[in-house]
Amino acid sequence: MTLLTPAVRAQARALRDDELPCYLYDLAALREHASSVRAALPGPVELYYAAKANAEPAILRELAPFTDGFEVSSGGELAHVRRAVPRSPLAFGGPGKTPSEIAAALRAGVERFHVESLHELRLLTRAAAERRGTRGPRPRVLLRLNLPVDAQALTGSALAMGGGAAPFGMDPSEAGDAWKLLSGDAADHLEPAGLHVHLASGLSAEAQLALTEEILGRVTALAGRHGLPLREVTVGGGMAVDYTRPFERFDWTAFGAGLARAARRHPGPVLRIEPGRALTAYCGWYATEVLDVKRSRGEDFAIVRGGTHHLRTPVTKGHDQPAEVLPMDDWPHPPPRPAVRGDRVTVAGQLCTPKDVLSRGLVAPGLRAGDRVVFALAGAYAWNISHHDFLMHPRPGFRFLTP
Ligand SMILES: *Cc1c(COP(=O)(O)O)cnc(C)c1O
Repeated sequence: MTLLTPAVRAQARALRDDELPCYLYDLAALREHASSVRAALPGPVELYYAAKANAEPAILRELAPFTDGFEVSSGGELAHVRRAVPRSPLAFGGPGKTPSEIAAALRAGVERFHVESLHELRLLTRAAAERRGTRGPRPRVLLRLNLPVDAQALTGSALAMGGGAAPFGMDPSEAGDAWKLLSGDAADHLEPAGLHVHLASGLSAEAQLALTEEILGRVTALAGRHGLPLREVTVGGGMAVDYTRPFERFDWTAFGAGLARAARRHPGPVLRIEPGRALTAYCGWYATEVLDVKRSRGEDFAIVRGGTHHLRTPVTKGHDQPAEVLPMDDWPHPPPRPAVRGDRVTVAGQLCTPKDVLSRGLVAPGLRAGDRVVFALAGAYAWNISHHDFLMHPRPGFRFLTP
């Protein structure tokens, strides 16, 4: 088994040393994955991509035919995604939207707002009213709720975004007031559409379905209690990518079948999911070379070009980034060529901090300076969450591979 696609392997070998490190994105692999995800979902379920996972324009364009829209979480993302995929609908989420971001979103004709608080709803209502007379459909509003669901207990999820006290979404006790606002004067400018819930990340298909079922039960009851129209329910993203089992993927087939059952039990609203990581993690690689190998207190260390200022994912998630070694014969430097003595090696980057570790236990017997290491599952929350300028090393290259 290999973590590399043929195109990535060939490119990672062909690059010159000074072209490394380099992010490699296999767009054909992305297309194939997105197409299989779309095919596993029931027809009426809408698929939005959460752009914060990776908003490279080439990736957004590749995803567009398989998605119903994009979720953006800042004014910057909104403008960027609108430019990259102008025909795709956008949903503007995220806490702490500023008045100028809201105004810019309205000017850009954003299709949906995920409203995070009563104050934000008042800001949005005023901004929309000020645009009275401009043409175009009213933007739809989904209230983001922090439902009192113990996502951790229900699913064992590693990263709970809600359920308990949280800065995301509004308390369900405020839903009634929000709907009163929305169905009053605001209705001239905004279209009440439904509810949005995103409670956890890193969920298996089974856990995700249990959470979805719980969410649908609660939002249906809440809507009934307050008499709110429920045309759309977004049940969030958070489909797991298991970095410790890089050959396994989220079970989209089981999830799709479960969603179809859930939709039959809760007829009416359009169901929408908005995954990020599980759509793009598998299409990106970070290729680099071993600069030096040393032994310290009986342990082997390989220092690679680049590091966690380019690929911060293993540090933020606390895992070893899965990787494959490409042995390279060429050795133009003075002998002897440094090499690993044991079976396992800690792969560190060029930063002067002990946190700059990409993998603690890479199985790479005989790994030598000059060999290449290609880190997989680097297509989401990788380059774009990293602290690029720390220590002023050069930036990596970026290649988008197409067949
Ligand atoms: C980050 C985020 C997502 C995507 O989460 P993934 O774990 O990448 O699938 C979806 N919805 C909201 C509101 C988010 O903040």
